[in-house]
Amino acid sequence: MKRIYMDHAGTTQPYSEVFKAMEPFFGERFGNPSSIHSFGREADKALDDARRTVADFLGVSAEELFFTSGGTESDNLALKGVAFANKGRHIITSSIEHHAVLRACEWLERQGFAITYLPVDKYGLVSPEELEKAIRNDTILVSIMHANNEIGTIEPIDEIGKICRRHGIYFHTDAVQTFGKIPIKMDNIDLLSVSSHKIHGPRGVGALFIRKGVKIDPLIHGGNQERGMRSGTENIAGIVGFAKAVELAKKNMKKDADRLTKLRDKLIKGILKMPDSWLNGHPVQRLPANAHFGFKYIEGEALVLHLDMKGIAASTGSACSSKELKPSHTLLAIGLKPEEAHGSLRLTLGKDNTEEDVDYVLSVLPGIVENLRKISPFKRENK
Ligand code: PLP
Repeated sequence: MKRIYMDHAGTTQPYSEVFKAMEPFFGERFGNPSSIHSFGREADKALDDARRTVADFLGVSAEELFFTSGGTESDNLALKGVAFANKGRHIITSSIEHHAVLRACEWLERQGFAITYLPVDKYGLVSPEELEKAIRNDTILVSIMHANNEIGTIEPIDEIGKICRRHGIYFHTDAVQTFGKIPIKMDNIDLLSVSSHKIHGPRGVGALFIRKGVKIDPLIHGGNQERGMRSGTENIAGIVGFAKAVELAKKNMKKDADRLTKLRDKLIKGILKMPDSWLNGHPVQRLPANAHFGFKYIEGEALVLHLDMKGIAASTGSACSSKELKPSHTLLAIGLKPEEAHGSLRLTLGKDNTEEDVDYVLSVLPGIVENLRKISPFKRENK
């Protein structure tokens, strides 16, 4: 059976070029970049080159870019690092952030920090006006994601960054879902988290951009790698693979975004023909590859399992919470009732998806939904 992967917001298949670029660093190019002999110098050069590739793509200086183990670590470093290095106890974030931000904020609350979790509107948009009103004398940091990983809504981060600038507060954005997918205007951003495995790079690698002059403490202390910001012998193979993925994203970003937007819109149009279905997230201000739906009377998990039996890999929402049976915090925050939030389906497209894939999904999904509704206890309760 043909298998169709439509869970690219969860993770992506590494490009074969990425794999090839990494391979020598598992073999003859095994040096430690901290060593001064030729093996070490070779590794150090690869590290420098990779840093320059990622920094150039963002339009920042290489000294402002720090490699990490991924988006989760970058988010934790940004939030906890800024919280502990600066005077002031208040942080503003949104109620729909990824758990990497939310759980870090909850931990900071237990350490005595005050966190404001801003609400969002029905599309998942943060209001810049509400955000400005929430600023206090002791606010040190605002962290608002660039685009939401579940419903794909793109936040007005440039406007939010400008407000932060005016008030002299640091602005962090989790750009894990937008990096390499859509352009990022860096002007008003002080800290930015990215991850490799969402852009066809290897897992376990990411980076944090820290604007020159931002006061921040490291989380991991040791041998002073990453200029003291993140100690531990560098994952050179992973970092080289990440840089290769960035190189390819740079080349393909515009054409992929245009093509995937068309496929996404076809998917949305087709699925919304089904009764008792709706689109979650913003109709236009959304990620090119994200389509997120609600279906009345059914469980998203059942839908995902039935799609899997037809060879389609989809998700109910975020990869990390899809094994929990709690309704998604993002869907509750946009105003869905728990039973509506349970009936969700996220289809996220990628470079290998074709129009035939979309047609196939549109041909099998209505039947699955209809069958699940026939046996649904929710449907009976509502009759
Ligand atoms: N932030 C967002 C918005 C994400 O979508 C993800 C991954 O799902 C992360 C952070 C975590 O990134 P990583 O898997 O690289 O730790």
